[in-house]
Amino acid sequence: MLDPALVEKIKASVKAGFAEQVAYTQELVRFPSTRGDEHAIQDFIFQTFRARGLAMERFEMDREALGRHPGAGRFSETHSTAPIVVGIHRPRAEVGRSLILQAHVDVVPPGPADMWTHPPFDPVIEGDWLFGRGGCDMKAGHAANLYALDALRRIGLQPAATVYLQSVVEEESTGNGALMTHLRGYRADAALIPEPQGERLARANVGVLWFQVEVRGHPTHVSTMGAGANAIDAAYRLIGALRLLEAQWNERKAGRPHFENEVHPINLNVGKIEGGDWASSVPAWCRVDFRISIYPGVDAASAAHEIEQTISAFSREDGFLANNPPRVAFNGFFAEGYELAPGSDAERALGEAHALAFGAPLKTAMTPAYLDARVYALYDKIPALCYGPVGHDAHGYDERVSLASVETVTQTIALFISDWCGVEATIS
Ligand code: ZN
Repeated sequence: MLDPALVEKIKASVKAGFAEQVAYTQELVRFPSTRGDEHAIQDFIFQTFRARGLAMERFEMDREALGRHPGAGRFSETHSTAPIVVGIHRPRAEVGRSLILQAHVDVVPPGPADMWTHPPFDPVIEGDWLFGRGGCDMKAGHAANLYALDALRRIGLQPAATVYLQSVVEEESTGNGALMTHLRGYRADAALIPEPQGERLARANVGVLWFQVEVRGHPTHVSTMGAGANAIDAAYRLIGALRLLEAQWNERKAGRPHFENEVHPINLNVGKIEGGDWASSVPAWCRVDFRISIYPGVDAASAAHEIEQTISAFSREDGFLANNPPRVAFNGFFAEGYELAPGSDAERALGEAHALAFGAPLKTAMTPAYLDARVYALYDKIPALCYGPVGHDAHGYDERVSLASVETVTQTIALFISDWCGVEATIS
């Protein structure tokens, strides 16, 4: 329990630094850090953390070590080569509990620029909203981690325990950045990731798999189409078969407490499709990229096996596919979900900090999308708290985050650090 006078000082200090925090968040949004293009922003973050006096480490993906881990995403030619950056705060006296504050810098592609009101990497502020690709997911949270520590320093305090500020990549595609910090050996007593969770704590989270299906057929002129096999048509039939699998997996929500009341907890996304070469030629090829989710407790390998079985069973019955079996490749996320066990002292501390900042109790929710928190929950086996601001249209057009929410969430994080790690005077 924090001293009420200290609580007010911390909240005021976050407020005092908030204009600077917003400007820093805008700087982060200006980096078009899509997959594979996170080198520049990671350099910028390395310099920023080092200027704060943190001990620094920067390291590459260890492909072999990742390849041996069951939760690693599968490598493809689009896998990022950007480094992972960790800033380490070491206290004078290690009296509190250690903490990982994690955030990712990679963002999903903005899509057609003309769908955006403002250019996607131009962080315009209108009223309470900061617009821009990655502002919500999750550069506002990335900045909040840093500025929560800054708020303590402004009033002459620092955590009385080791804090690791982790800046990772590959969160939107494999989760290998977070997993790499684990393989590198980083451990703490709890982890906090301020993803835009709408001011709620993630209680349960699905796992995610990515896979690509390629169909090949015999090309011919459309006038003799009956003799040719249309690869795009065949891919459509396969999508239909996978929709049936999706329906089956949704039926399996029965008896799962965080999922059975959701209308459609498992989503199969047909994310990308390409194929064919010419309007008057029957297409010889079609490639489709899929993303599907799995319930916590379902292992990725058995889900992958079921997907392969579905595709091969359907193909055996299909006139064309039976002779041209589609190729299936898992090419990204191969991640299991997790549940945050209630009753941990970390959750208690976050709940109290949230109540002090917001004046309302902390709510929890199921999240139907991949979260890096799974690495800390499943493999470090520590309380992994995914909690962050209100935002809209993450991955969509006009992605935006509420600045009022970011400010109060930053207060929550600063208060949580003070409780969980304890505080000591900075060396002056
Ligand atoms: Zn995110």
